[in-house]
Amino acid sequence: MTGFDTFVMVDWSGGNDRGPTPKPDAIWSCVAGEAPVYHRNRQVAESWLAELIARETGAGRRLCIGFDFPFGYPAGFAAAVTGSDDPLNLWDWLEARIGDDPKSNNRFDLAGEINRKLGVNGPFWGNGLKRDVPGLPRTRAGYENPFAERREVEARTPGVFTCWHLAGAGAVGSQVLMGLPVLARLRRRFAGQVAVWPFEPLTRPVAFVEIWPSLLAPVVSDVLARQVEAGEPVVKDAVQVRVTAEALAALAPGELSLLLDVSAPEEGWILGSGQSDVLLRAAGVMAPPPLRNDCFALPPGVDWTPVDDALALLRDRLHPVAAPEDAALRDAAGRILAADVTALRANPPQANTAVDGYGFAGPAPEGVNTLPIHLGRAAAGARFDGVVPPGYALRILTGAALPEGVDTVVLDEDLSVDPGKRIAFHGPLKRGANTRAAGEDVNSGDTILSAGRRVTAADIALLSATGHDRVRVCKPLRVAVLSTGDEVVEPGSSARPGQIYDANRPMLMAMLRGFGVEAVDMGRCADDREVLRAGLDRAAQEADAILTSGGASAGDEDHVSALLREAGAMQEWRIAVKPGRPLALGLWQGRPVFGLPGNPVAAMVCTLIFARPALMRLAGADWSAPQGFSVPAGFEKRKKPGRREYLRARVRDGRAEVFKSEGSGRISGLSWAEGLVELPDGALHVRPGDPVCYLPFSGFGIT
Ligand code: AMP
Ligand code: MG
Repeated sequence: MTGFDTFVMVDWSGGNDRGPTPKPDAIWSCVAGEAPVYHRNRQVAESWLAELIARETGAGRRLCIGFDFPFGYPAGFAAAVTGSDDPLNLWDWLEARIGDDPKSNNRFDLAGEINRKLGVNGPFWGNGLKRDVPGLPRTRAGYENPFAERREVEARTPGVFTCWHLAGAGAVGSQVLMGLPVLARLRRRFAGQVAVWPFEPLTRPVAFVEIWPSLLAPVVSDVLARQVEAGEPVVKDAVQVRVTAEALAALAPGELSLLLDVSAPEEGWILGSGQSDVLLRAAGVMAPPPLRNDCFALPPGVDWTPVDDALALLRDRLHPVAAPEDAALRDAAGRILAADVTALRANPPQANTAVDGYGFAGPAPEGVNTLPIHLGRAAAGARFDGVVPPGYALRILTGAALPEGVDTVVLDEDLSVDPGKRIAFHGPLKRGANTRAAGEDVNSGDTILSAGRRVTAADIALLSATGHDRVRVCKPLRVAVLSTGDEVVEPGSSARPGQIYDANRPMLMAMLRGFGVEAVDMGRCADDREVLRAGLDRAAQEADAILTSGGASAGDEDHVSALLREAGAMQEWRIAVKPGRPLALGLWQGRPVFGLPGNPVAAMVCTLIFARPALMRLAGADWSAPQGFSVPAGFEKRKKPGRREYLRARVRDGRAEVFKSEGSGRISGLSWAEGLVELPDGALHVRPGDPVCYLPFSGFGIT
């Protein structure tokens, strides 16, 4: 059982109290999903950890705590010191001897004592004190070490420091001496609740694991650079623990199990050593940064923006804002993958037979082949564990793993059988005939699905077959929908002359559901700036993005654009498209706002063509264009140059028909249509039979 609910990483320190103001080189910890915490000294950190363990286990949550120092020493040291090679005995041995208070501790003296006990000028070296410590060399002159300089894992992990080195920049030796006693006490205090990796099976609610945040150095530097750019205070230790915690929390459970699957019973291991690509990929799907303020800025001097340019701008400027989460496969259909997925198991996992028949060692030569039958049978789920001798054939049924001695199968229909004695068939038969090779579909470790993909039913089959029962997906994007206009009233209520029923909001909510995002109904707002301001405030609190309809032009009553302009984040996108009025794009309290035209036809077309790909991108999906089909026109139309046009259309008898009126208030035409015909930006005369591009509504995910 390796699934954990809470991940906490700790960057340890071997030094003395660092004071109340957060400083580097003190102890920093971070719970994934929360802000890093500063601990001025080990005593504070120990009680924080004890409280955390009590709280999490009390709430029935499984907790994984990572510490950035070795849990063991190179082979032989534990036995030389304690008489036992159990590293956990060494933890207790050290705990009984290390004295630690905020101002001073005896780590150098204890190291000197150990050196003297071993009777050599080592293995510990380096002295941070002014006074000399008997037995502890200050430098490596005349240094002797009866043990390996590095643990096996350290030899394989470039850049780590050794645990023998006690003083100076980067020295980790002091952290081990001052850290293991704390872990030993916590282990005792929570006896039976803590398992130490990789020494004990992780069957208890709390796991202590050894980490090395430098495995994630590229991500840490990225975050630091962003903080510097934003003028934020920068503490590397704080970023390291946060990045590591988020990365481990972002791993799919199967990936974490793979990382944990090591054997290092005496020396311990660094989680993720040699597999930092897995960690880096997981860290890449940390909760993403907010959108930039200028994400909707248009190049200066542009008057009417062509549709393709507008789409390219949205594609380049927007990035996913949805945070990742885990989902069980049964809930994963339609969700967007937050990380690439690799096969945990090959498909097929072992070579097997594609048919019912007899298996033998191929090939079979031309002519009649007669093979004696070997006793036994192989069926799917009932392996034949013996070996089939050369020249013999074994009864084998579809899906059965090929037993040793079988690589070729002859199909029932192609053979005659003398029951229990022999089979005969006509060759030739190639080696491997009628079998499926292990991994011929997918090999273990292959990338099977990429981040940004919307999970299909077939993907769920692939994920299941390759060993997954959960996947990392993006949290559903929440999109608020708000209608504006004094004339707009709620459907079903009584409407006075001059009032119209709100058609856009129910339509947009239904469309959003088709896009696979979560629609949040924010109701209607009158054409009143303060009412609308409050409406946008609520929407920004409730949702990740906002769709408004109406009030988006530059007129007196166009309060959506006025408010966005007032917030300094308004861009009026005059896109060369018909139908469509200017689109008001902006950020309201950091949430992207798509100010759609009020007219339902234009609102729908703008949503399909512009808002949909933008929202899908924000939701974590790859940028996608709707799939168009070339269909002969069933109509005639002349079009002027300058604007791209979308006509309400449907296909009948293999031809695209368009709605009889292009009037943009004609909602009945939207309902009549089953898709759109897209006419290019230039001038055009479409005659019946000419090919046109038809975009079915189903390609946008709506019906
Ligand atoms: P506006 O963009 O606010 O100038 O509105 C353009 C046209 O769309 C006007 O005729 C509005 O009455 C109409 N309209 C605005 N909002 C809606 C809505 N939610 N449902 C139906 N029609 C609307
Ligand atoms: Mg209006």
